[in-house]
Amino acid sequence: MKLGMTTPRRHFLKAMSAGLAASALGACATMSARGLGRVVVVGGGYGGATAAKYLAMWSGGTVDVVLVEPSAAFVSCPLSNLVLGGSKQLADITVGYDALAKRGVTLIRDTATAVDADKRIVRLAGGAELAYDRLVLSPGVDFLWDRVPGLNNAAAQARVLHAWKAGPQTVALRQQIVAMPDGGVFAIVIPRAPYRCPPGPYERACQVAWYFKRAKPGSKVLICDGNEDVQSKKALFQKAWGDDYKGIVEYRPNCVLVDVDVATLTAKFETADDVKADVLNVIPPHRAGNIAAQAGVITANGAWCEVDFLSFESIKVKGIYVLGDSIQIAPAMPKSGHMANQHGKTAAAAILASLAGQPPNPAPVLNNTCYSFITDRDAVHVASVHQYDREKKTLVTVPGSGGLSPAMNTLEGDYAFDWAKNIWADMLT
Ligand SMILES: Cc1cc2nc3c(=O)[nH]c(=O)nc-3n(C[C@H](O)[C@H](O)[C@H](O)COP(=O)(O)OP(=O)(O)OC[C@H]3O[C@@H](n4cnc5c(N)ncnc54)[C@H](O)[C@@H]3O)c2cc1C
Repeated sequence: MKLGMTTPRRHFLKAMSAGLAASALGACATMSARGLGRVVVVGGGYGGATAAKYLAMWSGGTVDVVLVEPSAAFVSCPLSNLVLGGSKQLADITVGYDALAKRGVTLIRDTATAVDADKRIVRLAGGAELAYDRLVLSPGVDFLWDRVPGLNNAAAQARVLHAWKAGPQTVALRQQIVAMPDGGVFAIVIPRAPYRCPPGPYERACQVAWYFKRAKPGSKVLICDGNEDVQSKKALFQKAWGDDYKGIVEYRPNCVLVDVDVATLTAKFETADDVKADVLNVIPPHRAGNIAAQAGVITANGAWCEVDFLSFESIKVKGIYVLGDSIQIAPAMPKSGHMANQHGKTAAAAILASLAGQPPNPAPVLNNTCYSFITDRDAVHVASVHQYDREKKTLVTVPGSGGLSPAMNTLEGDYAFDWAKNIWADMLT
C-alpha cells in the first residue's frame, strides 16, 4: 500500500510547525493518512478551498486533507474591480487561511510542479513529494503569452497588466489608473470566450468609468472586445454605458488581439484598428492552470479539462478531479467563483463516496449567481441552476430557473457585498 498507516498525522503537523517543512514533506509519501486516505488539493481559490473545507468537514476527520497553495492569504477576484475604481482596498477582499487549518486541513505554502498519476504523487517546487489517494486540481487559469508576442517577456508583463488574478497586479493597475492624466484613455482588451468571468471585463469598464467621472472627467474607457458582442448582462451594461457613463465608455466588438507594442502601449488586432492607450489593460487568452497541463488532464482544445459532471473526475486520468475555471464548462455554465464553489462541494461529496467504495450522487444540482457592480454601490445579477442530465451526461440549465436584474440598484449592491462575505465564509471558515 502506498500510504503507510503507522505515523500519526500530528507528528507531521509538528514537523511542519517546527520549520522542517521540506524534510517532513519529503517523508510524506510514506507517511500515514487517516482511515479513508489522503486527498491533496492543489489551489486554495474558489474551487480548491471549498473542496478542502468540505472534505475535512464531511469526512469528520477520517480523511487526511492537504491543501497546497503558494499565497499566504486568499485574495478574491470578485470585488477586485472595485479596488480599481478606488471604492475598496485590497485588504477588503483578502481572507486568511487560518480557519481552514483549524478545521483540520493541512496547509502547505508551496506550488505543485508535477504530478505522477501512476504513482499518485504530487511534486512541489520546494522539492517535497506528496502521496495521494485522490488529487483535486483547482489552479485557476494561466495565460497563453505566446499568442501575444510583444507581451511574452517579464518586463512587458510588468508594464501592460492583466489584473485577471487578484493581488499585486490589482494594486499596480489601480496605481496606473490614478497616475493617468485627465483626458487619457484606459483601454481594456478582452479575449475570445470562453474566458474567466464573462461579465468581469464589462464590470471593470464600469468601475474605471465611475472613477473617471469623479476624478478625471475628460478621460475615456475603451472596451476592445475579442468577441462579436457583449458576453453577459448585455442590456444592463449597455444601459450603464449609454446613461451613467455616456461619453466616457466606448464599446468596440471584434477586436481580436494579435500583438501589443509595449513601447507605445498600442494593441494590434486581427482586423480592427490599432488602439493606443494611456493605460493598456490586456486580458490575454488563457487556459487551465499549468499544473493541469503538466498532469495531462487538458483534453479539450488544448485548453480545458473535461470532467465527469457527476464527480468532477477527469475523463482521462483516474483519481484526479478538476474544478473551477480549468474545466471544459457544461453548456451555459460560466467560469465563475460561485460555480467553482459548487464544483468543490460536488467533488468533495463524490470523492468521499469513492473512498468509501460508493457511487457519486446520480443527480447533482448546482447553481450560480453572478453580481456586477455598475457604480460603487449599485449592482446587477444573473442567476442560473444547472442539473445533471443522465442522457446527455452533462449539466443543463433547469428551464425557467434563471434570473436577470431588471435594472441596477443599491439593494442588489448590498446583496452582492453579502454574497461575497457569505461565499468567503463558506470556503474559508
Ligand atoms: C475581475 C474579476 C471579477 C470576477 N468577479 C466574479 C464575481 O463577481 N462572481 C463570481 O462568481 N466570479 C467572479 N470572477 C471569477 C472567479 O474569480 C473565478 O471563476 C474563480 O476564481 C475560479 O476559481 P478557481 O478555484 O478555478 O481559481 P482561483 O480562485 O483563481 O484559485 C486558483 C488558486 O490556485 C493556486 N494555484 C495555481 N497553480 C497552483 C499550483 N501549481 N500549485 C499550488 N497552487 C496553485 C493559485 O495561487 C490560486 O490561489 C471574477 C474574476 C475576475 C478576474
